[in-house]
Amino acid sequence: MTILPVIPTSPDQPDAVAIRRRPSMPPRHLADLDLAARKAAVTTLGEPAFRAKQLSTHYFGRLVRDIDEMTDLPAATRARLTGDLLPTLLTPVREMACDDGATRKTLWRLHDGALVESVLMGYPDRVTACVSSQAGCGMACPFCATGQQGLTRNLSVAEIVDQVVYLAGVAASGAVTGSPPRLSRVVFMGMGEPLANYPRVIEAVRRLTTPAPEGLGLSQRHITVSTVGLVPAMRRLTAEDLNVTLALSLHAPDDDLRDELVPVNQRWKVAEVLDAAFEYAARTGRRISIEYALIRDVNDQPWRADLLGKLLRGKLAHVNLIPLNPTPGSKWDASPKPVEREFVRRLREAGVSTTVRDTRGREIDGACGQLAAGELTEASAGGAAPDAEVAQ
Ligand code: SAH
Repeated sequence: MTILPVIPTSPDQPDAVAIRRRPSMPPRHLADLDLAARKAAVTTLGEPAFRAKQLSTHYFGRLVRDIDEMTDLPAATRARLTGDLLPTLLTPVREMACDDGATRKTLWRLHDGALVESVLMGYPDRVTACVSSQAGCGMACPFCATGQQGLTRNLSVAEIVDQVVYLAGVAASGAVTGSPPRLSRVVFMGMGEPLANYPRVIEAVRRLTTPAPEGLGLSQRHITVSTVGLVPAMRRLTAEDLNVTLALSLHAPDDDLRDELVPVNQRWKVAEVLDAAFEYAARTGRRISIEYALIRDVNDQPWRADLLGKLLRGKLAHVNLIPLNPTPGSKWDASPKPVEREFVRRLREAGVSTTVRDTRGREIDGACGQLAAGELTEASAGGAAPDAEVAQ
């Protein structure tokens, strides 16, 4: 693992734990607005409307996030626009890399002291950003580190978009060795439950997929929204004119176990949640991705593979098995490889396409469900050198 140059904590904010305040939504940023609203905003600030496009071209087209680097703008204009349209939303606390530089995690401090993380993953043919949609998460899945924190607050549209624009800039700088320089995919698999922050996540998706300079110009098909299964929001998503990939975190094919692993199942049962997912697939023609973290002796029994196969047989669905990434202090562990192989075999035998997800970012706690910034800062409060605990 490489710890990248650490961004020092500013002297007036000596310790992230000490600055924990009441969470509040951030100031407005141009990424919160569509182009028409940006034009209205710049004219209200006494600047000509064309400045909106200029700013947008810098931000979305050239991935420049700092107004001081927009040197074709007069200094007075920059001073006038910065606070209202380009406030700093994300302050990097630390960045870490592993997998030979192909995976990097950034821990961000938001304007109110809340902490979130994003992960950039490079592959030979693509670069993917894994972003957070909330600070913390209210879904309380017991195997997920973020689930143990509870919800701090929703992220704003711009706080979501700015993570992606930053990571696209990192990719464009050529920092992800062995990968193309263009960030092409976004997965809402960082902290938070995206469908619990529905309007902002949808707006962020629109911003990310609108062509530059209004937006980032990514393909809708290359965006994945992952959910625990909030059925009304899934139905709402089905009615949107969006072609994003929907991932459903199922983790158990039976209600008894899913009630425990994904507590929201107590409200919306397996049958109902699968129905909503199949409807999404039927409406969009897009295969849904069923996420299933394999947990030793908990959900990895052959009969559960068979039951899952029965539920998904003939449906437009793909199973993505995730070897459990044990969270600190957890009683659970990943399934042994032979058990995992048997689980895959049974699903495939049932005619269900199945893959096992790679285990990117484990060394830097950047893997699925490991984005628990709160724990990192709590550890640093113990007096260790700021990064020592992360390096373990
Ligand atoms: N709230 C959304 C997105 C969160 S994380 C959701 O639940 O879908 C993305 C995926 O990582 C989810 O499938 C989540 O269940 C899974 N995950 C969480 N903790 C994990 C862990 N410790 N090991 C493996 N996968 C985990």
